Amino acid sequence: MRIMFAALAASALIPTALPAQDAPGTPAGAEALALLTKGIAFRTVEGQGQVPAYAAYLKQQLVSAGFADADVSFVAMGDTGYLTARYPGRDRKARPTVVLGHMDVVQADPKDWTRDPFTPVIEGGYVFGRGSLDNKAGVSMVVATLMKLKREKWVPQRDLVLVLTGDEETTMKTTKAAAAAFKGAGLVLNADAGGGALGEDGRPIAYGLQAAEKVYGDWHLTITDPGGHSSRPGPRNAIASLAAAITRIAAYRFAPQQNEITKASLAGTAAGIAGPLGAAMKAFAADPGDTAAADLISADPRYVGQIRTTCVPTMFNGGHAPNALPQRAMANVNCRIFPGTPRAAIEKTLVELVADPTITVELFDNGTIEAGASPLDPRVMTAVKAAAAKRAPGLQVLPLQEPGATDSMHFRALGIPSFGVGGVFMKPGDIFAHGLNERVPVATFDPGIVWWEGLLKALG
Ligand SMILES: [Zn+2]
Repeated sequence: MRIMFAALAASALIPTALPAQDAPGTPAGAEALALLTKGIAFRTVEGQGQVPAYAAYLKQQLVSAGFADADVSFVAMGDTGYLTARYPGRDRKARPTVVLGHMDVVQADPKDWTRDPFTPVIEGGYVFGRGSLDNKAGVSMVVATLMKLKREKWVPQRDLVLVLTGDEETTMKTTKAAAAAFKGAGLVLNADAGGGALGEDGRPIAYGLQAAEKVYGDWHLTITDPGGHSSRPGPRNAIASLAAAITRIAAYRFAPQQNEITKASLAGTAAGIAGPLGAAMKAFAADPGDTAAADLISADPRYVGQIRTTCVPTMFNGGHAPNALPQRAMANVNCRIFPGTPRAAIEKTLVELVADPTITVELFDNGTIEAGASPLDPRVMTAVKAAAAKRAPGLQVLPLQEPGATDSMHFRALGIPSFGVGGVFMKPGDIFAHGLNERVPVATFDPGIVWWEGLLKALG
């Protein structure tokens, strides 16, 4: 998960901060917290083989709340896999709604952490531990909500299917398989994206609904040369040629672009930003042809990715000895592509910029795929706005296009509308997903259950 909270970081100046909470006040909130603290102890990093054990624990919890044993399955794939739990609806033929999350976590080295990353610690109103935020908080809230609804004998209109993947942070092979297994789904609600921003006083200031992601692409640029003695240089030098090519790429600006999601998020974000940047966002939202506004926004690294494709050199190596002409040089160019633009079109531009037939330009396959934006579904917008209003009256809902990628990519690629609608609300400065001392506020669990209950009842 890569919540784009930067766009939501407006300031709210209300003098009295809410007190820190060390225990949820509702049974379902307490259940979600217990699921999280137990869940953190499963070391579900790549290669540890702990995803099946965590999935077995979650299955046991779901079955204890009334899910039929046959409706909860784990599909093993190597030392990981994905869990599915079907919650049958009244209309068994209607396209199911998938509720998505992931069980794996990013690696964490205990040496670097203040507290052991796989021992849950509750302190000062936060739960600390690897995965506490990404994505075990979301998984725990969704599972606790489903357990509550099952115990209350609620029946959805259509089938709800909980899908928890096992390698979102690495190869997404389980995601690809799960998406293929549920290609008939009508809608995906992803707990691993989207979320609410809290002001410094602890009160909600905005909610971001993730409806699109940039497409990822790495290109390897390679040049080879016979080389020779460095005292006898010829007209050609592999390192110099490649350096000139990537300098042209780094200087290039792709044309500004806009879709309904970035238009809405820029217009909404502009309201909270004073000065020329806010004015430029407002102007660009109204007219994507405003190049002066586009230039001003592009100068800010937080927002450049919102209005265009970006390609930057990220790795460079070449040569083999200090006194030899280089026989080989290689560079990696990393692109974050505006959804809807094919990778082939980006590659064509890169080849034109390189303008040197001796340099090969090759897309490196890391498992990521092309996926478009999800058109903003009025039913989803209405349900999220209602959930946001329940969280805080008048709370602004902003559609977001994330710079990174989540499991939604594989569902969007199959044409299934996917929305990141996670129920975690926290201060932007508290987000340490993928980093050290990852944490989540305890106070997010009670309202998180209300959040998911509202969404599932509206969209199930
Ligand atoms: Zn995640």
